[in-house]
Amino acid sequence: MIQGLKESLGSLNKALELFYLINDLKPVCRFGFYQAEIDKIKKLCSENRLHLVTSNFKVLLDSRENINDFNNKGNKTSLLNPFPGMIFTYISKNADSAELAKYLENSNDNRRLGELLGYPDCCIDFFIRNIEEQSKKNNDYVLPVLNNTDGFIFPKELNIAGRYFDFNLLPFFPHSFRCPEALKLARSYLALITDHDPALAVELAKKLARGVIYTEKMGVYLLDEPVLKGGYLNFEKASSSQKGILLDELNTYGRINILDKNHFIIGPHMLKDVGVMMFE
Ligand SMILES: [Zn+2]
Repeated sequence: MIQGLKESLGSLNKALELFYLINDLKPVCRFGFYQAEIDKIKKLCSENRLHLVTSNFKVLLDSRENINDFNNKGNKTSLLNPFPGMIFTYISKNADSAELAKYLENSNDNRRLGELLGYPDCCIDFFIRNIEEQSKKNNDYVLPVLNNTDGFIFPKELNIAGRYFDFNLLPFFPHSFRCPEALKLARSYLALITDHDPALAVELAKKLARGVIYTEKMGVYLLDEPVLKGGYLNFEKASSSQKGILLDELNTYGRINILDKNHFIIGPHMLKDVGVMMFE
């Protein structure tokens, strides 16, 4: 079923989130789609007896990867705007919850919207505390979450780098990479996937157990088979959605010297203001 949802929704991230909802592990989903996709999604929802309502605005984006768990306030525009933009859809098993999500988004009530989407209170609090600062940047919370967590070795279920590469287990930013509530949810999602598609669960677990380098301007990097020895992180292969010097260097050297979670040395260079994480 997950593979079928993936084909219809065009993304594993969305397919997993909707699968959690279908199996009562999530009350409401909120997805962005382009207008041309909406009819197909409506059909999928009616086939699965789900209610779908659409936003009365759209969001202009550089790319769909920029879409965030909550809202991108600055980019909201009228549905009549001729430029292509994403329309939000709110999906739930009962009509009231989907309508309420739409209402809460229109009211900019991030707290109640987060609750309705099934996010833990601690993670909603963190998001609300950081929204003003992060909305001026990429609207991305990886570095604030990392800076709110001690160390750089974390449980693989909380690896949220998959959101950039379409293998995301946890559909929101945890307040910390050790948040017990987020970890409980992530483990329940992985257990559900294991029950229905064990091969996919194994594949996901392997993809999540990787090193991650996060940069604000040069992309996000995944490090396969990471092994930490002394201050060095050795890995088999680096991949990224962004080609460039850093990716070439990572694959040339096959290891980085971690100074702390925000600084590392590769070859002759030191990179700063980045995030280095290892998920195991
Ligand atoms: Zn939390």
